[in-house]
Amino acid sequence: MKYLSSLKNKPEFDVIVVGAGPSGVSAAITLAQADKKVLLIERGDYPGSKNMYGGVMYSHAINEIFPNFLDEAPIERIIRKHNYSVMLENESSNICYSGNIKNDKNISFTALRSKFDKWCIEQAQKKGVIYAPRTLVKNLIVKDNFVVGVKTEIEEIYAPITIIADGVNSLLSKEIGLREDIEPKDVAISVKEVYKLNQNTINERFNLLSDDDGAMIECLGYPFNEILGLSFVYTNKDSIAIGVGISLDELTKTSLRPYDYLDLFKNHPNIKPLIKDGELIEYSAHLIPEGGYKKIPELFTNGAMVVGDAAMLVNNVNFEGTNLALISGHLAAKTAIIALDCNDSSKNTLKLYQKFIKESFIYQDLKSFKDIMNYVKKRKQSFLDFYPKELNLFLKTFVEANGIAKRKVYLNFILQFLKSRSIIELFKDFFTFVKIFLGVFIK
Ligand SMILES: Cc1cc2nc3c(=O)[nH]c(=O)nc-3n(C[C@H](O)[C@H](O)[C@H](O)COP(=O)(O)OP(=O)(O)OC[C@H]3O[C@@H](n4cnc5c(N)ncnc54)[C@H](O)[C@@H]3O)c2cc1C
Repeated sequence: MKYLSSLKNKPEFDVIVVGAGPSGVSAAITLAQADKKVLLIERGDYPGSKNMYGGVMYSHAINEIFPNFLDEAPIERIIRKHNYSVMLENESSNICYSGNIKNDKNISFTALRSKFDKWCIEQAQKKGVIYAPRTLVKNLIVKDNFVVGVKTEIEEIYAPITIIADGVNSLLSKEIGLREDIEPKDVAISVKEVYKLNQNTINERFNLLSDDDGAMIECLGYPFNEILGLSFVYTNKDSIAIGVGISLDELTKTSLRPYDYLDLFKNHPNIKPLIKDGELIEYSAHLIPEGGYKKIPELFTNGAMVVGDAAMLVNNVNFEGTNLALISGHLAAKTAIIALDCNDSSKNTLKLYQKFIKESFIYQDLKSFKDIMNYVKKRKQSFLDFYPKELNLFLKTFVEANGIAKRKVYLNFILQFLKSRSIIELFKDFFTFVKIFLGVFIK
């Protein structure tokens, strides 16, 4: 190393990875596979103990890191029924995509992070990664503008490259000026409960053919008709995860707390029967980055790169975070390998990581969706209240047989629609849809 050769403390590791979530483990294993000496540090008691997420993972990303994971990893159920629901207090309109292609490479599945992360770490250790649990990195060590290692509670450890994978709060990337303080509008709070139920009950309630098949339900509308939030239900082998996610700045506009919304959601007539007689076995709350494209920080500096949630890489339109974490960790590791091979861990080489990210689906998706949340927030009443009501009313009108001629029924629906919305508001909604469409398709 040009810089490190001048240091008194010679590095023991080629790379230190801080945080053993999906982004950290993916970086560590990619490096170990290239015969680099990697130290993976995790503050939790065991991998996954400090992590929390709704439950769906995507095979395209995991395949890159663990090609045999489908046969070996502790996955819960492969999602066969993807349900989307637009809810009102006592009604809902639903669509379901149902696929049963056994060898599809792009499947999604549920997993329990406590088991799944543990399995990932075991794979990483088999490849030679040195894993240090129950170790808190307190600070990065910076010398002459270079990150040269980390300071834990008991010692200093040096390496030419540090990969910062410490999750949404990322105190470490803030410390070296890569990230700013997170603003309430750039983060959502999610609360989740897990209910234990036997496998057959889950299969019956979600209409699943086998214990390996799973379902997810993602819901728009009630209880979020006034503030921006989403709700979800995922099936595990013998439990159901149910939760809500709410933009933090929206919470200042209501007297209800996140768990009040979760209670309302759980008691909706569609949801209540799904968890009936289930035993509550877990309750957790966690932040999810929501800043998207506009809040992606500088991803590298001399001697360090930042990955996953720490780099705000979450696609909250499609509920994707783990896959962006895995791939960003992989790309940072690829960059580190190049840097180590050419003996230069300065910005000059590490900027390659930012280039890889820009060329990947991560950056392109976040860019496409960069304005959606702002538009939805600006037109909240339309998106969260008016259109969900109109959609449900239309479908109710469509399914009702009440002896009135259909022509008249549909005409009445159109008249009430036009009466309940001024032309100006309709134009504003229309232009918002056009802006969203152009944002997604025009670069
Ligand atoms: C409720 C909820 C639902 C979600 N649902 C989904 C979903 O269905 N699908 C999906 O793809 N994504 C989902 N996500 C997002 C997903 O969980 C994250 O995007 C993903 O976990 C990010 O991985 P990461 O490795 O970057 O960070 P994390 O998983 O947060 O890992 C960071 C790790 O760093 C450790 N750490 C932090 N600071 C230090 C330190 N100083 N020293 C040592 N260790 C440290 C932490 O203990 C932690 O283990 C959800 C998130 C939440 C909160």
